[in-house]
Amino acid sequence: MNRHFDVIIVGAGAAGLMCAMEAGRRGRRVLVLEKAGRAGNKIRISGGGKCNFTNLEVSADNYLSRNPHFCKSALARYTQWDFMDLMSRHGLSWEQRDHGRLFCEQGAGAIVDMLLEECAAAGVGFHYDCDVGDIRREQDFSLHTSRGEFKGTSLVIATGGPSIPRMGATDFGLRVARRFGLRSIPFKPALVPFTFPSGFLARVLKPLAGISLEVRASCNGVSFREELLFTHRGLSGPVMLQLSSYWNRGDPVHIDLLPDREAVEWLKAEQGAHPNRHLKNLLADRLPRRLAGMLCEQEFGDQPLQAFSRRQLEHIGATLNGWRLLPGGTEGMRTAEAATGGVDTDELSSRAMEAKKQPGLYFIGETVDVTGQLGGYNFQWAWASGWCAGQVA
Ligand SMILES: Cc1cc2nc3c(=O)[nH]c(=O)nc-3n(C[C@H](O)[C@H](O)[C@H](O)COP(=O)(O)OP(=O)(O)OC[C@H]3O[C@@H](n4cnc5c(N)ncnc54)[C@H](O)[C@@H]3O)c2cc1C
Repeated sequence: MNRHFDVIIVGAGAAGLMCAMEAGRRGRRVLVLEKAGRAGNKIRISGGGKCNFTNLEVSADNYLSRNPHFCKSALARYTQWDFMDLMSRHGLSWEQRDHGRLFCEQGAGAIVDMLLEECAAAGVGFHYDCDVGDIRREQDFSLHTSRGEFKGTSLVIATGGPSIPRMGATDFGLRVARRFGLRSIPFKPALVPFTFPSGFLARVLKPLAGISLEVRASCNGVSFREELLFTHRGLSGPVMLQLSSYWNRGDPVHIDLLPDREAVEWLKAEQGAHPNRHLKNLLADRLPRRLAGMLCEQEFGDQPLQAFSRRQLEHIGATLNGWRLLPGGTEGMRTAEAATGGVDTDELSSRAMEAKKQPGLYFIGETVDVTGQLGGYNFQWAWASGWCAGQVA
């Protein structure tokens, strides 16, 4: 068995597969080492099985990173249109949903098959169920694995982030970075539901489980307008997943339950027009009935509108437009769709993803400190960073 390669890629996920096919096309002898029994496990479960593979609107503003400019070069060199072209060449089509999100009509598995076909055409080799242990560098990189030792002139780390550990996700990439003297930023769960103290959960949130509505939610100066979902464990839905990436322990979140109206003005007008109407019935015109009931029972009281003073109406209106909640935490890596943090971008070239201090060593995808918002941005980063490394590794 040949044990020396031009390029060894650790991780057959989104970024690793893209890098492998590009390097292989350049005539490089490429080997991919994957811990799992098959490629692309996170692609397969993404987007409810349909893979939200990119977004029509991609810009650096959709990413979190200590250096918000780092991702610009890669995203400009390999765009969402390039990935759509690739899919078209393979006869794959997509469906556009809200916020410019694109999903694969043939399902997530079709995207993995497409990438594997491209890798096969480019002569890329794979070893699955392969645990990588020690990595050393003399002239070349030498990897000790459960399938023996392999040597590579270039080494690409594409092992993703630690979210969903039951799928085998770890912080392997950061350990390799440390091993080679590169700085990194600790991983933190992102795109993850919020949890709440047990009393508040039982009294307020659990009775509302299953309700969803469109809200505007904000924290730390960032806000999103999307669906909120009440669950038995706390708050979820796209709007909460988005916010979680920007949230730090102890931060309150504010939820505007009536994002299209100035609630105080509306309440005052209704008080004048329908003084005998009960608040709960009025709120149920604009909010799910169970939510309107809970707000009246737990927060506002339920009386005819005329019984509320001006100050009380102002308080109710302010709460409807900015319900302040204090999460106890998040569900953590167990259910997070991504993780912020990763290899410090100051250590890498933004054009090639190559370590400045270690020529020939590359980090791509979620292992790098670039994390996308919800909406296909994480895959677009994986494709783009993998493509860039694939041009030079
Ligand atoms: C439930 C879920 C749904 C998601 N949905 C979307 C979505 O619709 N759109 C979107 O843009 N993003 C989505 N994401 C995020 C997206 O999956 C990741 O950002 C993306 O997969 C990162 O690509 P990657 O190649 O860096 O890492 P990964 O795709 O995670 O690939 C890393 C690979 O490395 C392997 N590996 C890890 N450690 C080792 C090791 N030591 N040795 C060998 N191999 C190793 C892993 O087994 C894996 O195959 C979702 C994530 C989750 C968890």
